[in-house]
Amino acid sequence: MESLSHRSKVVSNKKMTFLERIYLPAVLSGIAITIKHLFRRKATVSYPEVKREFSKIWRGHHVLKRDDKGAERCTACGLCAVACPAEAITMTAAERKKGEENLYREEKYASTYEINMLRCIFCGLCEEACPKEAIFLTDRLVYTDFARDGFIYGKDKLVEKVDERIDVTVRQTPAVLEFKKHKQLSHNK
Ligand code: SF4
Ligand code: SF4
Repeated sequence: MESLSHRSKVVSNKKMTFLERIYLPAVLSGIAITIKHLFRRKATVSYPEVKREFSKIWRGHHVLKRDDKGAERCTACGLCAVACPAEAITMTAAERKKGEENLYREEKYASTYEINMLRCIFCGLCEEACPKEAIFLTDRLVYTDFARDGFIYGKDKLVEKVDERIDVTVRQTPAVLEFKKHKQLSHNK
């Protein structure tokens, strides 16, 4: 019968030679392969004793940035949530009250902002969509947990502390900075 893949092999019933019958050459060749792999560079690391070096463009735990004066940059426009392919972001918009200018940069702000880290695929589209440079992915890890609830990150885990700013400049490569100069692109205005 004609083979469609042309990869079929005809089974041979030919008699095994003496060497084939004692299996010794096959065993030795298997051992040689094992020894060869012993001296190869390991593909795994013994985490947490050994930590792998992250790429400069690693995308991890998000941060909601504050401006130079310490006010939250997010204006709850929702563009990050719309851009998110995993539907991981939810927020509630609120109006800034008189006297809260030092807390929130714009008249509207996110009174709640949550990211479901179990849904997030760390694609970075929320960062790209944000017109206010408010959300960035950082080189921080999202830690493991035993309960699902622990993975809903609210503002307490996302907004940077006034006295503990998170540096996001590492991932702002020259290509990204160049892109941000194009004023005709709506989210660079
Ligand atoms: S990194 Fe991607 S998946 Fe995660 S919240 Fe942002 S847009 Fe959604
Ligand atoms: S796109 Fe930026 S400003 Fe708009 S809601 Fe998301 S983080 Fe806030």
